[in-house]
Amino acid sequence: MPTTLQPTASILDLAYPELVAWLKERGEPAFRAQQIFQALYRDLATDYAQMATLPKALRARLAAELPLVAPTVVRELHSRDQRTVKLLLALADGAQIETVLMLYPPNPESPRARATVCVSTQAGCAYGCTFCATGQMGFTRHLRAGEIVAQVLHFARLLRAEPWRWPAVPGAAEAATGGALDHITNIVLMGMGEPLHNYDNTLKALRLLNAPAGFNLGARHMTVSTVGLVPAIQRLAGEALQVNLAISLHAPNNAMRAQTMPVARKWPLDELLATCLAFARQTGRQVTFEYVLLAGVNDQIEHATELGARLAPFGPLAHVNLIAVNVTAAGYQPPSGTAIRAFRDTLRQAGVSNSVRAERGDDIAAACGQLRTLNQSKAQPR
Ligand code: SF4
Repeated sequence: MPTTLQPTASILDLAYPELVAWLKERGEPAFRAQQIFQALYRDLATDYAQMATLPKALRARLAAELPLVAPTVVRELHSRDQRTVKLLLALADGAQIETVLMLYPPNPESPRARATVCVSTQAGCAYGCTFCATGQMGFTRHLRAGEIVAQVLHFARLLRAEPWRWPAVPGAAEAATGGALDHITNIVLMGMGEPLHNYDNTLKALRLLNAPAGFNLGARHMTVSTVGLVPAIQRLAGEALQVNLAISLHAPNNAMRAQTMPVARKWPLDELLATCLAFARQTGRQVTFEYVLLAGVNDQIEHATELGARLAPFGPLAHVNLIAVNVTAAGYQPPSGTAIRAFRDTLRQAGVSNSVRAERGDDIAAACGQLRTLNQSKAQPR
């Protein structure tokens, strides 16, 4: 009896062994799975009609039982510098999510150009961080693996069709010579939702994108960003997939963290940092700590000093990414350049590696959740 899948299931929800099993149950040879993966993830097909290597009857059966569904683009915004593209996507059931493409030319620290997709893993989010527009929406549902993968494939097609070209910088080092990029180089799970709350679908999507027979994106080019679900981080440490871990930290102590991040009441900072240290030691991989600077809230020198002391046990296995907050409905303001420099200098003096992330696409409300909020307030004027 052939496996019955949910009516909303897509071919993109199937891992390679699952596709082999699906084909076998229908009397098809296993090598068809390779052809299908090649068509989906290398040729970036959008329709079974494009899969000329498959018999017509199989294409019809695939279309009927495992539709190749793509989300609908509701809004598309480009930043003024054309290096950030933000999409509001509608899924098959009408749930809306955001996904962002960020393009980086080579620079002395990173000599290769990058095309990074910031992926959503849930529609809405249950964790309610006060500085996050998505957190104010509440939780709608988990995304299926195929809905996570589809966001990356959308931008992969865009770049394939029209490679991003950056100009040469006169007088700059060789790294800044002009060039073109026609593929996705990195993904970060920093869009809407908490990836580790949707653990199984998230890991399945990462494995699909990592599969050598398919998209073949290296695990080290993938970053899972979490508010700190301790049991899930422990589980992630044991996965064979060598992805990067980023923690949304945003405060130097638990009392402060709990004011903006309700998750801190469930998994206190000490427990979270001990888990991260165990993750770093077990995997040998540096953990990134994201710290959104909120003017007058968590951007003082004493906060940097406290943060430096807490991260000292990590040595080189910790890196702090400082990000000036985007202005959202919650009304937070970014600190001044002087305050940001003082914060990072204090961390440096404490021996903690850090960088200031250049905010991307502020002019198109690229911060997580902003576009959906804007679209809703435009659609439903009060
Ligand atoms: S920051 Fe992340 S975990 Fe917190 S509310 Fe926003 S999407 Fe959810």
